[in-house]
Amino acid sequence: MKIDFTDKVVLITGASRGIGRSAAMLFAEHNANVALNYRHNREAVESLMEELKQFHVNVRSYQADVAREQAVNTMIDEVAADFGRIDVLVNNAGIWREAAITTITDDELAEMIDTNLKSMFYCARAATPFLSKQGGSILNISSTAGQRGEAYHSHYASTKGAVIAFTKSLATELVNEKIRVNCVAPGWVDTDMSADALRSPEGPGYVSLIPMRRAAHPDELAGAIVFLASDWASFITGEVINVNGGAVLCG
Ligand code: NAP
Repeated sequence: MKIDFTDKVVLITGASRGIGRSAAMLFAEHNANVALNYRHNREAVESLMEELKQFHVNVRSYQADVAREQAVNTMIDEVAADFGRIDVLVNNAGIWREAAITTITDDELAEMIDTNLKSMFYCARAATPFLSKQGGSILNISSTAGQRGEAYHSHYASTKGAVIAFTKSLATELVNEKIRVNCVAPGWVDTDMSADALRSPEGPGYVSLIPMRRAAHPDELAGAIVFLASDWASFITGEVINVNGGAVLCG
């Protein structure tokens, strides 16, 4: 059996850059039609669309702030109308910010929860009626931080821990809808999100705690995402795949 998404439609949130971009490339390479969500970076999504032309699949972009319920509902209705179906939802869009518990503001907390967690509820709620028509799959992106915590990023780590509980809850809730729900939990990945930290004076220290002694390339996350969405993973649901060079093992 080959991994093949011919005629299938994959919606990826936060697809303009980083992990979402790599996932879009790999899905298209395996013949998926792709709906690319982004928030601000139109230029990046346009350059991705140019690159995706080599795969001769149907590609469209959707500007929407996934932290806003109405924007999500509109986007998902548009994707379903444009493509006629939705088979895979990748809840990838996210932000990572520093905030100490003694100084974190309500606005910082709300922005984190809205962007990293509520967005996944909004997208899953709106997409489920479309996914369940023919069966499908939801992929949620968590983090090592969601399993072992992260000092000065407790709001981020809390959302990512919740993403794992959300995944496991939906996996059993949606089994009769023929929807599998899984999670990919990256460690350090070399993207815009982590670039400043990885290249800061503390960067080598972060990397030294990874048994493989390097950050991941975003393509290394895409492999796990595409695998979990594919028929190769047809009996896998409610699972978390850590892609972190062994980092969670080290506490
Ligand atoms: P990135 O390079 O910073 O890209 C973030 C993407 O999310 C961009 O496409 C951005 O769109 C989009 N986005 C952010 N907020 C959005 C919103 N409110 N609505 C719609 N789109 C939004 O990040 P990344 O490293 O690829 O991270 C992807 C996922 O992996 C995140 O959930 C992150 O928490 C998780 N993760 C990353 C790492 C890491 O080390 N990089 C580690 C663990 C987990 P624009 O381009 O339009 O701004």
